[in-house]
Amino acid sequence: MKTEIAVIDEKNIDMSKVKKAAAIIRRGGVVAFPTETVYGLGANAFDEEAVKKIFIAKGRPQDNPLIVHIQSVDELENLVYDISDVAKKLMNKFFPGPITIILNKKESIPDVTSAGLKTIGIRMPKNKIALALIKESGVPIAAPSANISGRPSPTDVERCIEDLEGRVEGILGGPCSEIGVESTIVDCTVEPPCVLRPGGITLEQLREVDIDIYMDKAIMQKPSKDLKPKAPGMKYRHYAPKAPLKIIEGNVEQTVAKINEMLQNYIDDNKKVGILACDETKSRYKDGIVLSLGSLDNMQEIASNLFEALRHLDDLDVDIILSESFEERGIGVAIMNRLRKAAGFNIVRV
Ligand code: AMP
Ligand code: MG
Repeated sequence: MKTEIAVIDEKNIDMSKVKKAAAIIRRGGVVAFPTETVYGLGANAFDEEAVKKIFIAKGRPQDNPLIVHIQSVDELENLVYDISDVAKKLMNKFFPGPITIILNKKESIPDVTSAGLKTIGIRMPKNKIALALIKESGVPIAAPSANISGRPSPTDVERCIEDLEGRVEGILGGPCSEIGVESTIVDCTVEPPCVLRPGGITLEQLREVDIDIYMDKAIMQKPSKDLKPKAPGMKYRHYAPKAPLKIIEGNVEQTVAKINEMLQNYIDDNKKVGILACDETKSRYKDGIVLSLGSLDNMQEIASNLFEALRHLDDLDVDIILSESFEERGIGVAIMNRLRKAAGFNIVRV
């Protein structure tokens, strides 16, 4: 398949290119596009055949539902019912932005889009190219992240091209995703609302709207028979680099010492080692390929560099990746959720 690729400036949007991409969506094709969380891979949410193409292009398991992207709250009328007061408050405060609200879906949304569930995730992205694309398409756009299933999500257009060129009709490029981790998913079909996936909007921010919002206990742990995540997609190995990834959890001093010790053993074994560190610690590693995700003073920067760093270490063909851990506060909860999943919960506690 020939993939139409166009890269545009979010601050000065070339509408002719957006219109071309929207035409692909309207005729049942699939287009990758930028959002502030990660790049998405979209199709007309109402078109069963188009949505099936997303699952095929990504190799996505069919029981993993897609998020439906809108550009105006007027679209909700056609999509969902029973919008609770809390859901309204969350949408008022955080739309457009990195949050997905789960609501009861109307018949208009086919079962493939919701993977057979009676509920659907609704998100209004902030990125202006995404909003323009949805508006020009004239339909809500169902979109998961624009990566091959299981790989780290793409935060720039080059990574979309790497994964999807030849597999989709269009790729619309724009800026790098500034949030860098996916949206926070809040199930508003239950009382009190439950966070199914930590993301760009923090638990602290959500609790400013409703103090009772809580997080699905299964999210931060290795899924087991007794404790399964409520969001179907959270049970899969995800975000994974090609090399095994181990997270070292402890205080800064213990972590640096442990990583240096493990590093030496791997080097003695002739292994190429990647290290995920931060600005504060990067100079303390004696060997290996050290990537800093940013400063601990700016956890948002660390989030936005995480997936790209994992992909970069893949490019360098490292044999093993050792990662520091980050404080589970604010966006740090989403960072640690993605890191643990990427590591398949391979954690060394010191
Ligand atoms: P992605 O778009 O790749 O970030 O994946 C979407 C995530 O949202 C997956 O983890 C899905 O399982 C989750 N999700 C989407 N719709 C629903 C829903 N109706 N109920 C629960 N989880 C959902
Ligand atoms: Mg994804």
